[in-house]
Amino acid sequence: MPDNRSSPPAPRLHAGIDIGGTKVAVCLARAGTPGDEAVENAPPAIFHRIAEPTVKTGAADALAQQVLQLLQRACAEQGVSVDALAGVGVSSCGPFVRRAGCIEVANPNICGALSGADGVAAPNDWTQVPLQAPLRDALGAARLRIANDAVAALAAERRWGALQGVTDCAYVTWSTGVGVGLCVDGRVLGGKNGNAGHAGHSFVGDVAGVAPACGCGNRGDVESLAGGGSLRDWLGVDAPTLLAAAQRGEPQALRQAQLLCRLMGRLLYNLVATLDLARISLGGSVFLHHQALLLPLLRRELAQHFAALTQGVEVVPAGLGAQVGDYAALALLDAAA
Ligand SMILES: [Zn+2]
Repeated sequence: MPDNRSSPPAPRLHAGIDIGGTKVAVCLARAGTPGDEAVENAPPAIFHRIAEPTVKTGAADALAQQVLQLLQRACAEQGVSVDALAGVGVSSCGPFVRRAGCIEVANPNICGALSGADGVAAPNDWTQVPLQAPLRDALGAARLRIANDAVAALAAERRWGALQGVTDCAYVTWSTGVGVGLCVDGRVLGGKNGNAGHAGHSFVGDVAGVAPACGCGNRGDVESLAGGGSLRDWLGVDAPTLLAAAQRGEPQALRQAQLLCRLMGRLLYNLVATLDLARISLGGSVFLHHQALLLPLLRRELAQHFAALTQGVEVVPAGLGAQVGDYAALALLDAAA
């Protein structure tokens, strides 16, 4: 007769899929053991991760097929059946649009017909690519969750990072682009197409007519001015070189870093003024690699504006640090699912 006490329930397995403009990554994680109350407080244990460049040629469903193949491969490499996964979370770059109620991705770095930037467009004529429908058909709707990448990162920061217990908060990623996830009165904001928080494409002021075009087509929005992918176009230097020089105290680089923080600080202020936030968590490679320089500048910029709204607002580094991207998709999944 089997002794159930000697064979505790196996941990649930989750997959997290991160879809970006340059790469697609899949990670597998143990989400915890059924009945384990500590599971909500600790991030899942990631035990496998693979990635490859985002596909940008072929049929319009090429991206969804790539995601499914990568998931299949990750599972096969670990001897896990895809059917055994309790949940599949997908954190994707946006914006999203809906076709027949299902999320499709309309991102200028993936869809060649959308690029509004001055540079080279993706080598296809896509305007949007299906995501939710093909994944749902292959995996089933019940265990699938999809969210914008910054919204998913916000969920991770609220669950395991620097935003735990904060009901009015934002996660802001300052990376190649600029993205935001928002939570007000304890509710994560989605919007009609799940695009709430695309504040990287909001305007933060004129910069003397030199503003390059953003991938979205705007000139002078915060991503086109402060996004790490834009700096070479209008400052003539990439983000790591510029910020390293600023950290060494080189005067011109320091002035340029201060300008970037003024622009990003206006974005932070706009978010606080609009939503009455208590805390903002900052992540993304540009910020995290140079936070010793950037964090005080951003805090100072925010504090310069309307004290009645900004007093006491905390601006903190992402609690999950550089791993926030890996945990983002996993945070969409219920630990008990
Ligand atoms: Zn833009």
